[in-house]
Amino acid sequence: MENVVIIGTGCAGLTAAIYTARANLNPRVYTGLAPGGLLTTTSIVENFPGFPVGVDGYELMKRMQDQAEKFGARVQFATVEAVDFTRRPFTLTVDGEAVQAQSVLIASGASHRHLGLASEAKLEKKGVTYCATCDGALPMFRNQPVVVAGGGDSACEEAMYLTRFASKVHLVHRRDSLRASKIMSERALTNPKIQPVWDTVITDVLDVEQDKVTAVRLRNVKTNVQTTLACAGVFVAIGHVPNTDVFKGQIELDANGYVVIKRGAETSVPGVFVAGDCADHTYRQAITAAGMGCAAAIDAERFLARLSA
Ligand code: NAP
Repeated sequence: MENVVIIGTGCAGLTAAIYTARANLNPRVYTGLAPGGLLTTTSIVENFPGFPVGVDGYELMKRMQDQAEKFGARVQFATVEAVDFTRRPFTLTVDGEAVQAQSVLIASGASHRHLGLASEAKLEKKGVTYCATCDGALPMFRNQPVVVAGGGDSACEEAMYLTRFASKVHLVHRRDSLRASKIMSERALTNPKIQPVWDTVITDVLDVEQDKVTAVRLRNVKTNVQTTLACAGVFVAIGHVPNTDVFKGQIELDANGYVVIKRGAETSVPGVFVAGDCADHTYRQAITAAGMGCAAAIDAERFLARLSA
C-alpha cells in the first residue's frame, strides 16, 4: 500500500516528489512515457528563477529528479494505464500490475497538439516533428528551408533554434500577429533567417508518395489563395492537449480535458490531487507547475495526516 502515488515527472510531479519525500511519505513516482516531461524537449530555460544565465531543460529536470531521489522518492519508469478512484484505497493499473494508494497526485502534463492532417501523421518522423531541440540538427534539415507552424512562445523558440541549422525558417501563423511574449516575438521577427507567413494555415504536407517532406500546401485564410512552399521539414508548435484520457469518468475534467481544481490542489475526488499543465491552461510555465506541485504535495500530506489522526 502506497501513501502517495505521483503520476508524472515534469516540474509539477518532481516538485511534489521532493516535498512528499521530505515529509517522509515515501512517494512512488511513475514517469509515464516521457520522463522529465516537456521541459526535456526544450533547449535553454531562461525564466526559471535561480539561473541567471539559463539552464538546459533536460539538465533542470535531471537535477529535480536527483533531488527527489536524494530524499527517498522512488521514481519508476512505468505508465499508469487505468485508475479506479471510486473507493479508497485507490487502485491503479501500472504496466499491468495493480497498485493501491491512499492518495494520488496527478501531474501528467500535456502533449503537443497536432494539426490533424492525414499527411502530417504519415510523415511524422520523416520530416514532420514536434520538437526542434530533439530533431533540428538532423542532417535532413541542414541548410534546407523548414516550416514552423504556430504563433506562440513555443513556435518562436523553435524557429530561433532552427536558424542554427536551416537555410530559412518560414514561420506560418494563422493570424497577422504573434501570440508569443514581446521579448520572444521581437527576437523571432528581427532574426533575418526567420520569414513570417501571416494569416496562413497548412492544409497538406507533401509528399506522402516519396515518404519524406518536400513542401507544404498553404491557404491564406483572408484571401483563400492557395500556395505551395518547398521545405525539408515541418515543426509543429501549436500548443498542447492535457494528458488526462486515463482519468475520464473518474474525476471531473473540463470540456477540453483539463482536470478541474476544486480547492487548493483538490480534484472532485477527496484524496486525489492535481498539479501542473494537466490542470492549467492559463499559465503553463515551469515555475507555476513547480509551485502547483508543491501545493499539491502539502495538500496530500495534510489529507494523509487527517486520515491517521
Ligand atoms: P500557445 O501559447 O497556446 O500558442 C499556440 C499557438 O498555436 C497560437 O499562436 C495558436 O494560434 C496556434 N494554434 C493553435 N491551434 C492551431 C491550429 N490547429 N492550427 C494552427 N495554429 C494553431 O502554446 P505554446 O506556444 O506552446 O506556449 C504554451 C505556454 O508555454 C505559454 O504559456 C508560453 O508562454 C509557454 N512557453 C514559454 C516559453 C518561454 O518563455 N521561453 C517557451 C515556450 C512556451 P492563435 O494565436 O491564433 O490562437
